[in-house]
Amino acid sequence: MSPEFLGLSRVEFITVGAAGPPDRQEFYLQAQQGDLLVSLSIEEEHVAALSMGLYELLDQLGGVEEEREPLDMGLREPLEPLFRVGSVGLGYNEAEDAIVIIARALVDEGQAVPEVHLWCSRAQGYALAEHAIREVMENRPRCPLCDEPLEPGTRHDCIRGDGQRWLFRADEPYPG
Ligand SMILES: [Zn+2]
Repeated sequence: MSPEFLGLSRVEFITVGAAGPPDRQEFYLQAQQGDLLVSLSIEEEHVAALSMGLYELLDQLGGVEEEREPLDMGLREPLEPLFRVGSVGLGYNEAEDAIVIIARALVDEGQAVPEVHLWCSRAQGYALAEHAIREVMENRPRCPLCDEPLEPGTRHDCIRGDGQRWLFRADEPYPG
């Protein structure tokens, strides 16, 4: 049973990543505070939205300090999701200068919605935003000609080096 509410004040580690077989990759949002490792199963769309939201929030806050140490962004074992994320929100506490990532579980209508709050620093938020968008892009199919990631269902307007135009859709097979 998932707890109704779980809050991690000042996580030591926070990341998102994809794991699993290549054709069935699943995304996880993961954070750790002391011995407590929290893993949540999350949709790619939410990962992308989280990244954009963090960039926007950090922009409003005036960014992060220049000096940034590289953070550990690899998923940690065990990958046992507490729940599947249904929605993600962001908040900020000015007194603490801390960002909160609010993940709510995907539940059936009428059920209580378990919620996890992950508090992190601006630097952690920035690292997460950068890592998240990279993970999403890596997981997307790429154009065989220009190597740009393809958006599912969206026309890709590819211009090769020779100036010829090629059109692809990510949901169609690549040309042989
Ligand atoms: Zn292309």
